[in-house]
Amino acid sequence: MSKGGLRRLDWVRSILNRLYNSALEERKKAWESKQLGVTLYDQIKGLTAQRKDDPEGLGSLAVRAERGMLTRLERAFKAYFRRHQAGEKPGYPRFRPIARMETIDIVDPKTTMVKKRARGYAIRPKGFPTIRLFPSRPLPTECSLKALRIVRKPNRVYVDLTYEVEKEPLPKCDSAVGIDLGVRKRAMLSTGERVERNSRDWPEIRRQQRAISRCKKGSGTRRKRVGRLVAMRHREGVRNRNACHRVTTEIVRNHGLIAVEELDVKGMTTKWLTKKSLNREILSQTWGLLRIQLRYKAEWAGRELVDVDPKYTSQDCHRCGARNKPGRSETYRCAACDLRMDRDHNAALNILRAGAVALGSVTWVNGPYVLPEQ
Ligand SMILES: [Zn+2]
Repeated sequence: MSKGGLRRLDWVRSILNRLYNSALEERKKAWESKQLGVTLYDQIKGLTAQRKDDPEGLGSLAVRAERGMLTRLERAFKAYFRRHQAGEKPGYPRFRPIARMETIDIVDPKTTMVKKRARGYAIRPKGFPTIRLFPSRPLPTECSLKALRIVRKPNRVYVDLTYEVEKEPLPKCDSAVGIDLGVRKRAMLSTGERVERNSRDWPEIRRQQRAISRCKKGSGTRRKRVGRLVAMRHREGVRNRNACHRVTTEIVRNHGLIAVEELDVKGMTTKWLTKKSLNREILSQTWGLLRIQLRYKAEWAGRELVDVDPKYTSQDCHRCGARNKPGRSETYRCAACDLRMDRDHNAALNILRAGAVALGSVTWVNGPYVLPEQ
């Protein structure tokens, strides 16, 4: 987006920010002076007069963006009262500085707001600068647009679009797959396929971080270098997400039953964060993303997705069921039946079996799907 466009967007943000804060003040005053509750409905009604009084500011902007601001305030109050009633001690909703007002939600967006261009798409709510989009896949513009969110980050603008897509069940499929996510670098499918995770370019990131720390605070060079690092991490994020999409689409297309281990991503992340292990935190985010995508894609396609308790999946032998001591080696060895195979592959096969059992459908185990012999 051009510099002029960003300036325009920041102006829009300042107007919306003022609206948020004044609406908050209105609620606060009404309560303090007359013990009156102000509702979202009241405030939306009041918006009409405010727009008339301020044709250059509020009146010149898309009313849906303004309603979005008031709705956000309403949510803040609802959360406050809910926690209050639950006996907690929540903080009263606060006035926000413009720097923290990154997100603009457009409520009930019209599908026609997203316009197709010769290259990419463009959106331009009333009073906003034109925002051009170049998504990696074509947008389902024939579907109805459910949510539109514009996020202003220091050096770029993001747009989140949510479309309501009709479910498209895929033809029935008897194949089943188990997926071992593990905490190591890759995921493993029970078919023996590996899913490699993009590794981050840590030396480069560290080099850039060191260069930033050498700069004087507030200097132009520092700002430029921070911008470069942010842009690089953004590109990595996009690449990672696209890689996840390719993998999950493939899995859902090829298998009728998908068994995944339950991962306590949240618990894992906090534990790891205390260890300051950013790499692992990102890894768990990737696995979280993989699961989220699998879940909704499986639902659209009419596939079964089963969560499996990951306990012992890496210790049990998938062939004879004996429980072996966990080893450090990449190769799994069974003391009872002398099985030798890749550790993650064995785990993926256990996850598949547990998923089939959990579904209560023995046919998955004994019928169309046969566990491959080693
Ligand atoms: Zn065995």
